[in-house]
Amino acid sequence: MLRKAFSNTATAVAIVMMLTASTARAQEVLRDAETEAFFRDMSAPIITAAGLDPKNVDVVLLNDGEINAFVAGGQTVYVNSGLIGAADHAEEVQGVFAHELGHIVGGHSIRGGEGTRPAMAITLLSLLLGAAAAAAGSPEAGLGIFMAGETAAEGKYLAFSRAQEATADAASVKFLSGAGISGRGSVSFFEKLQNMEFRYGFRRTADDEFYSTHPMTADRLATLKDAFEHDPAWAKPEDPDLQRRFLRVKAKLYGYLAEPQQTLVAYPEYLNDIPAHYARAYAYHKEAFMDKALAETDAILAQDPDDAYALELKGQVLLESGRPIDAIPPLRRAVALTRNQALIATTFGHALLATEDRANFPEAERVLKAAVVKDHDNPFAWYELGIVYEAQGDTPRARLASAEQEQMQLQYVEAMRNAEAAQAALPTGSPDWLRAQDIAMSTRAMVEHKRKKK
Ligand SMILES: [Zn+2]
Repeated sequence: MLRKAFSNTATAVAIVMMLTASTARAQEVLRDAETEAFFRDMSAPIITAAGLDPKNVDVVLLNDGEINAFVAGGQTVYVNSGLIGAADHAEEVQGVFAHELGHIVGGHSIRGGEGTRPAMAITLLSLLLGAAAAAAGSPEAGLGIFMAGETAAEGKYLAFSRAQEATADAASVKFLSGAGISGRGSVSFFEKLQNMEFRYGFRRTADDEFYSTHPMTADRLATLKDAFEHDPAWAKPEDPDLQRRFLRVKAKLYGYLAEPQQTLVAYPEYLNDIPAHYARAYAYHKEAFMDKALAETDAILAQDPDDAYALELKGQVLLESGRPIDAIPPLRRAVALTRNQALIATTFGHALLATEDRANFPEAERVLKAAVVKDHDNPFAWYELGIVYEAQGDTPRARLASAEQEQMQLQYVEAMRNAEAAQAALPTGSPDWLRAQDIAMSTRAMVEHKRKKK
């Protein structure tokens, strides 16, 4: 069974190609352990200052070159990769985040999504090279791209009124002040946007960029600046650790998203800081120069052998270069250092499975089970768990895992079918049986709802 799954490389590549083509317009969520940890830590004090619980506010990274951030569906702030690329300081990202949080607290985001999350594709940074790796003969990695629904994000460009912008600005001043974070980043980022506006003659299309969702005017910027300059936190120095982490995240995203040649221009080989090593590691890995990519990750590890994210990347390079056995030690260490971070654990589980050595399967099952419990937005872990169960001949639980994965990807018909089959075969009343029943019921309701709408 396992072999069958692994030998379906050509099919997997075809599916990935198809999905990629059909979802060119859909929003793509990029998931990465290091980026998400940075988002969490840069946002937590601001969320607390706003009187909300950091557990309830999500910051989600989108693969979108436009310099934008927006709120949609309840308490989620979406940050485009283009915004990270345009920012030079963690404080700038914090300034934008505080403004978006102002929209959430002001209730401005409710009218669009009614609390529902927009449908999006989910991609793991640690598997983003999946399609290329599969084409290069590393089987199963081709499933690095998953669709999470066929519709593009609705309500993406929810334009706010001037009054709402003023409210969000005032709130952002209050929140940053409460968190003891200087408003310099906020002011410099909005000034940067205004300069671009002058240089490029304002927005390129009607629904383009930050301005269209957040109309920016000179008096708005002046008001914001004045308020921040009178705040006691204005002169406070930036948090050096957060800034260090921001530069890593920015470099990693650049290396991951840009053409390798561009990356080598932006982060030339004579630069020896960690962000430069990081960006180049991705560039070389994308070019399938495994030795050069490993030299870059090893340069980071020479400075800190316990750099969990450099270990994660090293493991990814080895895994996607067809060396899963060598990928295991760095990934196992990265998982331990991050106390079982679910996305890293997923890559680790992937490496264990890719060895095709049954002796590694119990550990894969343990690691992946822990990952799906901790992370509720990780279809990859469910997919891999399904492979483990299938290899053990446990078809009912393999189908239940598929149902979990498909439900997450909004494939309700397939999820319903698998959940019903799992329920029929599992011991009545067991926890897995109950879970299968839950999925079967909720997906059936979704399928019927969709049918009625038509
Ligand atoms: Zn706004």
